[in-house]
Amino acid sequence: MQKIPFLSLEKVQEIAKEYPTPFHIYDEKGIRQNVEALQKAFSWNSGFREYFAVKATPNPYLIQILREHGCGCDCSSLTELMLAKAIGCKGQDIMFSSNTTPAVEYAYAHREQAIINLDDITHIDFLEKTIGEIPKIISCRYNPGGLFKISNDIMDNPGDAKYGMTTEQLFEAFRILKGKGAQEFGIHAFLASNTVTNEYYPLLAKILFETAVKLQQETGCHITFINLSGGIGIPYHPDQTPNDIQAIGDGVRQVYQEVLEPAGMGDVAIYAELGRYMLGPYGGLVTQAIHEKHTHKEYVGCDACAVNLMRPAMYGAYHHITVLGKEQEPCTKIYDITGSLCENNDKFAIDRKLPEIQMGDYLFIHDTGAHGFSMGYNYNGKLRSAEILLREDGSYQLIRRAETPKDYFATFDCFPVYEELMKSMK
Ligand SMILES: *Cc1c(COP(=O)(O)O)cnc(C)c1O
Repeated sequence: MQKIPFLSLEKVQEIAKEYPTPFHIYDEKGIRQNVEALQKAFSWNSGFREYFAVKATPNPYLIQILREHGCGCDCSSLTELMLAKAIGCKGQDIMFSSNTTPAVEYAYAHREQAIINLDDITHIDFLEKTIGEIPKIISCRYNPGGLFKISNDIMDNPGDAKYGMTTEQLFEAFRILKGKGAQEFGIHAFLASNTVTNEYYPLLAKILFETAVKLQQETGCHITFINLSGGIGIPYHPDQTPNDIQAIGDGVRQVYQEVLEPAGMGDVAIYAELGRYMLGPYGGLVTQAIHEKHTHKEYVGCDACAVNLMRPAMYGAYHHITVLGKEQEPCTKIYDITGSLCENNDKFAIDRKLPEIQMGDYLFIHDTGAHGFSMGYNYNGKLRSAEILLREDGSYQLIRRAETPKDYFATFDCFPVYEELMKSMK
C-alpha cells in the first residue's frame, strides 16, 4: 500500500517557521477514526475496554484524545501512573501491567486503586507485604512458554521472554489469591509483538479463553476480564497489508462464542492494551536535510538522529521516508539517511531508493506515533524534540516543547553550571 504523509510540504513549512525541525507530529483525525473503528470492532462485548499502553506515546494531550473515546491507561512505572492520574484516570481506568516492580510503584498503584496485573507468583507475597492486603480485583500475567506460531510461521518466542507465569503457577496463584480474599480475577498475556496478521488476537484469545474456563472450573475463581494486551502491529513497510481491525474483532468474537459462552462465561469483559496500533501510523518525524556526503556511499545527513527515533538503530526497523513535495518524483537515487550521533548505526535508512534530495528538503519519517519519541534519550548530549498535534481543522498545537540545554543540565543539582554557561554564550 502506498504510504502517504498526513501533511503537506506547505503545512510543514508553515509549522517550521514557528517550531524548527526536527519534531514529531501527530494526526488527530487519524487517531480518532482509528479508535472509533477499534471500539466498533469489539462493540459485541459490552465490557470491552482499550487501556492505551502509555509507554508507547506518553503525551497527555494524545492520551486525552483516546480518553474521550473511552480508553483507559495501561501503565508500567511510577511516572506513567502519575501521568494517567494527571489526565484524570482513576481506579479501574488504570491497568498496572508492570514487571520487576519496585515496592513504591505497587504502593502508588494500589493507592490509586489501579487494577494490578501480577507478572509473577512471587509478587503475591511482595505485594501483600508492600500494601498490607490483596486487592479485591487482581490480574495475573500468563506465559505458556514455547514458540508462538501462526500456521507454520514463528511469530515470537514466549519461552524466552521474562514475562508472566507458567501454567502451573497461574493456577496456583489464583488459588492463593482467592485464599487471601481476592474476588474478581483477570488474566493477561502478551505473546507476540507487532503482528501484521488478523490471526494473532483470535489465536491468543483461544489460548486465554480455554485457560480461563479451566481456571474458573478448577479454582472456582470468578474471571471478570481477559486482557489480550498489545501486539497488534502496523505495516511499517509499503509491501505489508494492514490489519483489518473488524476482522480481528470478529475473530475474537467467534472464539468467545465457541469457548466462553458454552462454559457459562458470557459475562467476561475483553480488555486490550494496544500501543502501536493506536498511534503508530498517526505520528511522523519531520526532519530537514542539512548535509550531503559523497564517499564510499551516498549520504544525506538530517537534523534528527537516533535519539529522536531509536527503532532503526535498535532493531534495524524499517521506517518509510517521504521527501515532502517530491511525492510524485521517481526514486532515482540510493541513499543512507543519517543522523549526527557518533554511532554508525545512527541511520534512518540504508540503501534507500528516494528521489534526489536537495539540502533544505524536508523528510517525513513515517509511523513514529508509537515507540518513537518515547524511546528518546540524551546520548551525545542530543536533546529531545518537540511534539506537535495537527488538529482536525488543520491548525496545529505544540503539545510538548523541545528540550533546551537547561533541561540537559537540570539534574546536576550538585554541580550548578547552567547559569554560568549561559552567560558565556552571550
Ligand atoms: C508494550 C506493551 C504493550 C503495548 O504493546 P504494543 O506493541 O505497542 O501494542 C501492552 N502491554 C504491555 C504489558 C506492554 O509491555
